Amino acid sequence: MRSLVLAAAAVAVLAACAPKAAEPPVEAAQAAATPAEIHDRLMVLDSHLDTPANFSRPGFDIMQDNPTILGEVQVDLPKMKRGGLDGGYWVIFTPQGPLTPQAYDAALKAALTRSDEIQAVAAAHPDEFELAYSADDAERIAAEGKRVMLQSIENSYPLGLDISNLKTFYDRGVRMVGAIHFRDNQFGDSSTDLTSTKSGGLTPLGFELIKEANRLGMVVDGSHSSDAAVEDMIRTSTTPVILTHTGLKAIFDHPRNISDDLLRKIAEQGGVIQINAYGGYLEQLEDSPERAAALEALQAEFPGVEPFRTDAETLARYREKSAELDAKYPPPRSTFEKFMEHMNHALEIVGPDHVGMGADWDGGGGVEGMEDVSFLPKVTERLLAEGYTEDDLRKIWGGNLMRVLRQAEEAREAVPAQ
Ligand SMILES: [Zn+2]
Repeated sequence: MRSLVLAAAAVAVLAACAPKAAEPPVEAAQAAATPAEIHDRLMVLDSHLDTPANFSRPGFDIMQDNPTILGEVQVDLPKMKRGGLDGGYWVIFTPQGPLTPQAYDAALKAALTRSDEIQAVAAAHPDEFELAYSADDAERIAAEGKRVMLQSIENSYPLGLDISNLKTFYDRGVRMVGAIHFRDNQFGDSSTDLTSTKSGGLTPLGFELIKEANRLGMVVDGSHSSDAAVEDMIRTSTTPVILTHTGLKAIFDHPRNISDDLLRKIAEQGGVIQINAYGGYLEQLEDSPERAAALEALQAEFPGVEPFRTDAETLARYREKSAELDAKYPPPRSTFEKFMEHMNHALEIVGPDHVGMGADWDGGGGVEGMEDVSFLPKVTERLLAEGYTEDDLRKIWGGNLMRVLRQAEEAREAVPAQ
């Protein structure tokens, strides 16, 4: 013990004697690095990768450089390497269906299958991908040059009315939970449920879900939830709330985006907004008359098509026709500039401790000039040019996500084994 103390003291003396000029100041080292070098040495994470939806698709191979299809195939290993993307939260997404016991059962099976598929990818490529169960895990995996696979839930609908199902997902490594999607569900109101006459927040079951997420040590995600539901989450959660893929009403007044006031509340609690690159939420996009007519015809051909209610065969035919339609009459696209407007606005309002990126890759995200994850270094380049430092970028690209996850981990209560 004594010798260690002496050794440490000797090192301190040596360090004190060393001429200051021998070590270039941090600022100078930063100035010497190119934006690409800075991007490369940061841990770069995205908070909302919808890529698991591709895992069971015929022809998709995460190890191959798949052709980019906007909104569908934007993430694979070669693209991640080119874009310096170290990984992120891989989403277990379940579309909203009817609130019936049978539909809950079907949705739970589908969500568990999706989680199985995520785990299977990690197991099949252990030299390239690894499941992360904690912030420490994520940082170690990225430092080893592998891709980080954290898991998250988008839409808690599959949990049904039984909150204890959340622990099933926690035990599989899921560390973040989004309560609501396009439509109101058993947990609360959606930001985009146009059929609803309510504009309420969380239901009593929704409050229970937030408490259970806190108890387990999971991050609460308010993306897709109504503003009132996000406010309920902020009030209820003992740890900061995140919005994994959301934009700003100040740039485009859409119900899926949030006001500056709500953004400030998120930040005051220590939370983060991860900026979305979903064209329809970035700006008002108009379908061409041909596309609008084709969409109308498709709806007429498949009236009331709905997951977990429509039979699987009809649903598959609908999706196939939908893809054909998109190929023939491509949806209008937003731009990299518009995406940066949202990101810059968030940075101006709450600063780099509370902003990150969750582009909705493979879930509809992607814009002209940033079509897939290989274009991510452009964001670093732009933010550096605007005066943000490497330290700011470290937080924006993953530091904030890790801070929020650590807060959830620290708040975790002892959960009895079952
Ligand atoms: Zn989404």
